[in-house]
Amino acid sequence: MNYRKHFMVTPGSKLKLGKIDPSFSGHHQHREQADAEIEKDRKKLAELQYLMYAEDKHSLLIVLQALDAGGKDGTVNHVLSAMNPQGCAVAGFKQPTPKELAHDFLWRVHPHAPGRGRVTVFNRSHYEDVLVVRVHKLAPKSVWSKRYDMINDFEATLASNGTTILKFFLHISKEEQLERFKQRIDDPARNWKISDSDYTERELWDDYTEAFEDALSKCSTEHAPWFVIPANHKWFRNLAVARIVVETMEGLNMKTPEPTVDLAEIKHRYHADVQEEKKG
Ligand code: AMP
Ligand code: MG
Repeated sequence: MNYRKHFMVTPGSKLKLGKIDPSFSGHHQHREQADAEIEKDRKKLAELQYLMYAEDKHSLLIVLQALDAGGKDGTVNHVLSAMNPQGCAVAGFKQPTPKELAHDFLWRVHPHAPGRGRVTVFNRSHYEDVLVVRVHKLAPKSVWSKRYDMINDFEATLASNGTTILKFFLHISKEEQLERFKQRIDDPARNWKISDSDYTERELWDDYTEAFEDALSKCSTEHAPWFVIPANHKWFRNLAVARIVVETMEGLNMKTPEPTVDLAEIKHRYHADVQEEKKG
């Protein structure tokens, strides 16, 4: 299966989330069947990120969006723990500060875009400004409805500067969300993750679904595609995201750069030093 093709929101199409099964797990019935594939991908992720860092030409921006308990934190951990922290970063976007609110909505986001050679994951993103802002009417429609074009322009700017952009919507069912809230309540180590807003937001499920459908339909582009990832099974979510990242990075045809020094000359000096050491 080509994961990129399979899960991509076709640019220009109208997405209906109800048609996508959040429990889908491809040809795997359970986790154990996927383990070998997941391990292989983690090795590839490490190699590809090393290449990206060494080549210092491309960069990668991964955007994660989901409803509460959708698995954003787990996905960050899965993808980035396979890579060398030196070339990676995570940026999380919470309620904007007064200073951030005093600027345009992209102001706080742009400085976190990855520079050449780097991988950055956005845990929430500029899309909050057409999601939570729309659902809670934090800005009038005349304001948020213009943002889809602005987002597309912003992402086109990043893409034309060498940034590959992959955007993942982690798609869980309402039942699965409740199950995950239960785990947060039952497991003392996870109690801290529960917030009042989890429950109030849950009541707005349908509004969020509509807002997500609009955002993903209007902003899935060739240079910055959206993917809907079935995420009821955490292992399948991890597998699918990692696969798409690997498939995409492989398509960049990255190469380790040519040495910046005269290698023959360096080797000659090295061997001379070895001879000196032997004599000494
Ligand atoms: P969490 O990621 O669960 O810690 O929660 C962060 C909260 O910040 C979520 O409820 C988001 O919806 C909210 N948030 C993020 N960006 C914005 C924004 N631009 N405007 C309003 N709320 C936001
Ligand atoms: Mg939360």
